[in-house]
Amino acid sequence: MSSTVTRDKAFFAFSPDVLAVMRVAQGEEFAIETHDCFSGQLKLSSDTLETLDWSITNPATGPVYIEGAKPGDILRVDLLEVKATGPSVMVTIPDVGALGEFITEQETTILEHDGDNVVYKGKVRVKQKPMLGVIGVAPAEGEIPNSTPGGHGGNMDCTLVTTGSSLYFTVGVDGALFGCGDMHAVMGDGEVVICGAETPGEVRATAQVVAIPGLPTPFLENDDMVVTIASAESTDEAYKMALAQMHGFLTKIAGLSVNDAAMLMSLVGDLKFCQVVDPLLTVRFEFPKSVLREYGFEMPRD
Ligand code: CA
Ligand code: ZN
Repeated sequence: MSSTVTRDKAFFAFSPDVLAVMRVAQGEEFAIETHDCFSGQLKLSSDTLETLDWSITNPATGPVYIEGAKPGDILRVDLLEVKATGPSVMVTIPDVGALGEFITEQETTILEHDGDNVVYKGKVRVKQKPMLGVIGVAPAEGEIPNSTPGGHGGNMDCTLVTTGSSLYFTVGVDGALFGCGDMHAVMGDGEVVICGAETPGEVRATAQVVAIPGLPTPFLENDDMVVTIASAESTDEAYKMALAQMHGFLTKIAGLSVNDAAMLMSLVGDLKFCQVVDPLLTVRFEFPKSVLREYGFEMPRD
């Protein structure tokens, strides 16, 4: 039986000052219910943003105190299940998002969930690929609104943050103070209009400290690839950070030479946008694990 953090346990900024709502041992399974990014305020297409209470948008659930996690540790969070419970909502907002200049009318659209699909305006069926937009740990000091991504994680809106992925964060405070939210039943890379299929959901996870000194964080791993994720004020800055972090990982941790790492990143690595609409922009670099195996390197597991 895993303990569940219910979605009413919401917080709105990652900070050392937010009190933990649950404690778990390392490796102990826990469950988290998440609100959609509007805290469930938009239930009908007639629910407009004019009546929205913006102070409760971008909720994350938690934080969860991971026993024994200390500042400077690398925390690995294994996402055992990321499940969208629906229905989903999308919005347009004039002058907001990467397409804002073209948008003159605010619109709210509810997307029903039908089995494994979401249904857009009764017409377009899209297979769900549920993912968490916001996931992270408290920074060592200060507070970072959930709208903003960064070194602590936060609003990265990375489509790979899904069932079967592991996320790595550098712990800022005792217990790490982990939280997540902003689930999307499905979303395209870039999140160009400012949202995906925003849905409530349920997450099952474990978290534990791992010994991978120098791992650049946030870092993601799934069955097929390792991924660096970087956020900055421009996508140019962000992609340079993501590239430098992957090159550093490949040379300093996986043991490739400077030139092998660079040539293989250019040969089989993929540079992709996560999102281009948040206060900082997020870019990722994906590198296949099959190549790491050719060099005799495996990510350490328990
Ligand atoms: Ca988001
Ligand atoms: Zn979202």
